[in-house]
Amino acid sequence: MPGMQPKPNHPKNNVYDVTIIGAGPTGLFGAFYAGMREMSCKIIEALPEVGGQLAVLYPEKWIYDAPGYPKILAKDLVRNLWEQASRWNPTLCLDERVTMLRVGEDSPMVLETDKGVHYTRTVIICAGVGAFSPNKLKNETVERFEGRGVYYFVKDKSPFRGKRLLIVGGGDSAVDWALNLKDYAREITLIHRRDQFRAHPASVTELMSSSVNVMLYHELKEIRGDDHIESVVVFDNRTGAETILNVDYVLLNLGFKADLGPIKEWGLEQQAKRYIKVNCRQETSIPGVYAAGDVAAHPDVEPLNLIAIGYAQAAVAVNYAYTYLHPEAKVFPGHSSEMRL
Ligand code: FAD
Repeated sequence: MPGMQPKPNHPKNNVYDVTIIGAGPTGLFGAFYAGMREMSCKIIEALPEVGGQLAVLYPEKWIYDAPGYPKILAKDLVRNLWEQASRWNPTLCLDERVTMLRVGEDSPMVLETDKGVHYTRTVIICAGVGAFSPNKLKNETVERFEGRGVYYFVKDKSPFRGKRLLIVGGGDSAVDWALNLKDYAREITLIHRRDQFRAHPASVTELMSSSVNVMLYHELKEIRGDDHIESVVVFDNRTGAETILNVDYVLLNLGFKADLGPIKEWGLEQQAKRYIKVNCRQETSIPGVYAAGDVAAHPDVEPLNLIAIGYAQAAVAVNYAYTYLHPEAKVFPGHSSEMRL
């Protein structure tokens, strides 16, 4: 494609060549490839930010198996992926959940969302494990401070600098955040309702010998304060004994629910209930609709839910979507190194 230049990517008739559902690493890399093929591309993402699991579950963690990076923080990989996709100026709709797909004979496909409708000629579903929502604690005092000192995931660790923090949970997120923030926050207490962790054993060993104050068999009873958190009451679930801790922030790492939700009702053939079945072209059972990344599974193949796998599947899906629109075209897109940009 020598001499090919990026151009504005908004079709005049508002019908996009491809619409990608989900802005995780798979969707973002798919958007890049769509641009390489000069396809107009829209991405619709349920979360208020791009990055999928990397942004929500582990933005501050190192990734060691992202191609081309000996190690990279998840949030930095997301930033780079978005920068790479942005070369082609895709349309990005954030905070918008796709609820319905309608496929007609000779008309564009219609995607309905909680905010409106979108028209497209092909669809690539990169919905990962589904749209996320954190498991919450049913407690009136917790609800009162949500977003004002109570957090369910860390997007930015800067508020915790030099502060006193209570972390609740016993999984990887709770343990990793305690370790990650221990030299950043002034003081960290981690409470867990049992004595067994659901975290990596090496991380638990590190936690137990760290400066983090770990209180096993403890649960959160109450958060106290007026316009900001001043203290919390925790209790020993074996004896009922209560302890008051002076803290500034509470981080609840109680896990996430992720549900494909409405996508399961679109009539797509599924595999093992939670996957959309695809063939080696990443085609689903509906012509013109593709799936890639964590959401997709090939028959009789154990899915490998990894970033690198999603990249490859996204490239396959986009290039076959291109030939769906242009049957005379080659699937192979050419080499990006031969493009003059
Ligand atoms: P996701 O990242 O899940 O993104 C899907 C996106 O689709 C989400 O943003 C979601 O909100 C959106 N979405 C879902 N439904 C809808 C809808 N109806 N409408 C609009 N948007 C929707 N992999 C590695 O290769 N290396 C690692 O080191 C690594 N570490 C990991 C650590 C942890 C703690 C976890 C949980 C996973 C890790 N993974 C790692 C796995 C990796 O994160 C996933 O394989 C990858 O995120 C899959 O990308 P995806 O784009 O397919 O899906």
